[in-house]
Amino acid sequence: MSPILLFAPIRLAVWHRQSLPLAMGHESRYHLAPMGLIVQKFGGTSVANAQKIHRAARRAIQAKRDGKHVVMVVSAMGRTTDKLVSLAREVASNPPKRELDMLLTTGEQVSIALMAMAIHDAGGQAISLTGAQLGLVTDSVHTKAKIHKIERRRLESELEAGNIVIVAGFQGIDAAGEITTLGRGASDTTATALAAVLEAEMCEIYTDVDGVYTADPRVVPNARKIDTISYDEMLEMASAGAGVMHGRAIEFAMRFDVPVHVRSALTDAPGTMIMRETEGMEALAIRGVTLREDLATMVLLGVPNKTGMAGRIFEEIAKHHVIVDDIVQNMYDDGKFANIGFVISAEDSPIVKELTDRLVREQGLQGVETQDQVSKISAIGVGMRSHSGVAASMFDILGSAGVNIHSISTSEIVISCVVAREDGHKALAAIHDAFHLSDK
Ligand code: ADP
Ligand code: ASP
Ligand code: MG
Repeated sequence: MSPILLFAPIRLAVWHRQSLPLAMGHESRYHLAPMGLIVQKFGGTSVANAQKIHRAARRAIQAKRDGKHVVMVVSAMGRTTDKLVSLAREVASNPPKRELDMLLTTGEQVSIALMAMAIHDAGGQAISLTGAQLGLVTDSVHTKAKIHKIERRRLESELEAGNIVIVAGFQGIDAAGEITTLGRGASDTTATALAAVLEAEMCEIYTDVDGVYTADPRVVPNARKIDTISYDEMLEMASAGAGVMHGRAIEFAMRFDVPVHVRSALTDAPGTMIMRETEGMEALAIRGVTLREDLATMVLLGVPNKTGMAGRIFEEIAKHHVIVDDIVQNMYDDGKFANIGFVISAEDSPIVKELTDRLVREQGLQGVETQDQVSKISAIGVGMRSHSGVAASMFDILGSAGVNIHSISTSEIVISCVVAREDGHKALAAIHDAFHLSDK
């Protein structure tokens, strides 16, 4: 019997981005199975047709023949999820989220079944499992659920039986048995969470680019592939808009020290290793630049300066599972009032507008200003810790490019500027060029 069968399921504690470093309480970790285990995740474009499914199947079979346990995580084929979302919106202007999850999870169910068939066809042995069958338990927040727990029993017995286990990405089940999804792009998170729970030696993310680039190569054509990047940098890049990886996926990988290899589904060329920070990574001031184009800013005007007011406002917003960033408060009138500005995802703007309008009526705020047409440009690099003047250079570059900065936020390894949506691409290219990110 392989050692991976010997341990009871471990708990993955729920966490939110803010509390991540504190919250993971895992009771036991088992030791690496003698065979080693890898998780291979294939994104939508990498399973978009029968030929690509066969190619992915061959890769998994090869890894199995090389002596590994193999868990595959598969996304819905091509643009299936987008099409299902459009279909839902054709039928209903505001589809119930439970039913959206019901609908969207069908996309992954199609691809896991086809993948299992392809593996059988190529002479391998495989079984497909939905999130529910596997026991990937989440909270009950439909369309944005967080993983609570992953049962290991079924996974382990299928691996032990010699199967390649093919898991449906981005889906789970809540304690009441309802089907949930983990947010768009979250098959990556399914993959790294499984890799964490199974203590995989590697989590491979197969996608339509051959690695993580210094900027989105679709927007900045001279962007360069990055060979190695730290978890911290990748986490920041993902949350700042680098769509190549789902942010929460990096949190799992970082927490459990799972190396992640982002690479092309079409070639065998090495991609980008996401790993623990190593010496020398600080040599470069900036590792990459990103753009988020799906943002809105809100400013609450004339907030009475009363103890507990900010808490009341943001608690109200948090109740609706809205992520708020870059909160800025400016006092005026001798500290009697404040304007409080913050950034949210444009998708959340209608609900936040509704909430803040209510706060205006009930708490005596003077008004709310909303701007839906904004983007945030961010420069990220652990090197910022040891290079001075990076922020000043960034503001200069934007100024010379004629880009007006609406607001600025910084952390240890990130500098972000909110700019008008129409300036986003120009700003990205200017910063990428001025920091010579295409040079090796
Ligand atoms: P998958 O369906 O495989 O999950 P995604 O579309 O989610 O693929 O992610 C891959 C895409 O991410 C690429 O095609 C690329 O345009 C985009 N992308 C954004 N930022 C970056 C970046 N910094 N490096 C590489 N790709 C990026
Ligand atoms: N199919 C889902 C989506 O398109 C999950 C994923 O691809 O990661 O968002
Ligand atoms: Mg993706």
